[in-house]
Amino acid sequence: MSGDLSKKLAYDETFDCIQCGSCLPACPTYKTMGTETQSPRGRINLVKMAAEGKIEIDKLQEPIDLCLGCRACETVCPTNVQYGRILESAKEALREKEEASASPVKKFEENLFYNQVFPKRHVMNTIGRLLWFYQRSGLKTVFHKTGMNHWLPEHLETFEQAVPDISGPGYRHHRPSRLYPDQKPIYKIGFFRGCIMDALFDRINDQSMRLLAAAGCEVVAVEGQACCGALHEHGGRTGQARELAKHNIEAFERESFDYIVNNAGGCGAMLNEYPHLFQDDRAWQERADRFVRKSVDISVVLAKLKLPFKKTIRQRVTFQPSCHMTNVQKVTEEPRALIRKIKGIDFRELDDPDFCCGSAGIYNVVNFDESMKILDVKMVDVKDKNPDLIVTTNPGCLLQMKVGIEREGLSDRVKAVHLIELLAEACDLE
Ligand code: SF4
Ligand code: SF4
Repeated sequence: MSGDLSKKLAYDETFDCIQCGSCLPACPTYKTMGTETQSPRGRINLVKMAAEGKIEIDKLQEPIDLCLGCRACETVCPTNVQYGRILESAKEALREKEEASASPVKKFEENLFYNQVFPKRHVMNTIGRLLWFYQRSGLKTVFHKTGMNHWLPEHLETFEQAVPDISGPGYRHHRPSRLYPDQKPIYKIGFFRGCIMDALFDRINDQSMRLLAAAGCEVVAVEGQACCGALHEHGGRTGQARELAKHNIEAFERESFDYIVNNAGGCGAMLNEYPHLFQDDRAWQERADRFVRKSVDISVVLAKLKLPFKKTIRQRVTFQPSCHMTNVQKVTEEPRALIRKIKGIDFRELDDPDFCCGSAGIYNVVNFDESMKILDVKMVDVKDKNPDLIVTTNPGCLLQMKVGIEREGLSDRVKAVHLIELLAEACDLE
């Protein structure tokens, strides 16, 4: 075995794979790319061979970069292979190797992105304000009327159109950080706002808090919380993810909560994996375990409560679940049960709901072409159900489904919404 690498790569875990191939039909990249190296089994084999020194670690780069990290392979695996661990270990090893030879400019860019942008709430809020100014000042209109949007690289042009209407600084300034129900609270909830969720979808965060309060909970958007660390962990930056995890655990320890609630499938999965970040630190692992015991997706809490439904919504609705909610958090029934509770909804299950939409964090930005091929497969299933609404539970999936609607020319009759937006509408909450 190759000394240094064997310590970084999750070598022991690769032996759980018995090469049965049951995961192949569930893997989106195997479906769209059709090669063994772009399958779970192939990637596990490559990691094992790299750990044994039979191939150079560089040979992992492309298969690992092109893996969505959706973890559908874990859910169907009969031997319970911990693919997520194998994947993250490979990412970390690749990143360390790349960092050693990176130019100062590249190091500066990465430091800016991972250390100065996502972890800092005020920076994310500033980005939100700049986007709001771009949308409301007329700049966006000029940009599009003059055709300057076509100067952007294709992936940026595509996602620029999918960005939702951002709320203005006045609205942001007056957002409450604590809400009380009309009666004695059923649960006290610590609310996790997230970074992208709060910069681009702050209204959905506010609707989440109001829904919880309307259903009888005291809700606190805890001060001092940070990004969950998912982008860092999935980018092979485990050390930075660990620091963000400590920050969040400390922030949510300052008050006692019945639940720590989030509304983004990817963030929720990362929060639930905090104990894995502290394998060598018992004290922090215990604190992470306590945090995780209370951490749940918002649909889990709402499904236990009585929501004050007021409206009938006569629409055909289909549901695109977040992969990380299904495969990591194992939350599958609650969002569907909540949709079905709304009067008038004609719910249409996708044929293959667990097939990733191709969003996967920033996969759709850095691997745009591959992501669009996966999205095109998803949209065939969606179109077959002829929905008025596509409901999702994660900001990345929401943007990706908006892109899918545009690509298919369906924007005049199909909308993508977060589950919370649909529930807020049915309860007549703004
Ligand atoms: S299903 Fe599991 S054991 Fe079978 S090939 Fe895939 S990862 Fe290996
Ligand atoms: S995480 Fe998703 S894309 Fe990656 S190997 Fe597993 S099923 Fe395929």
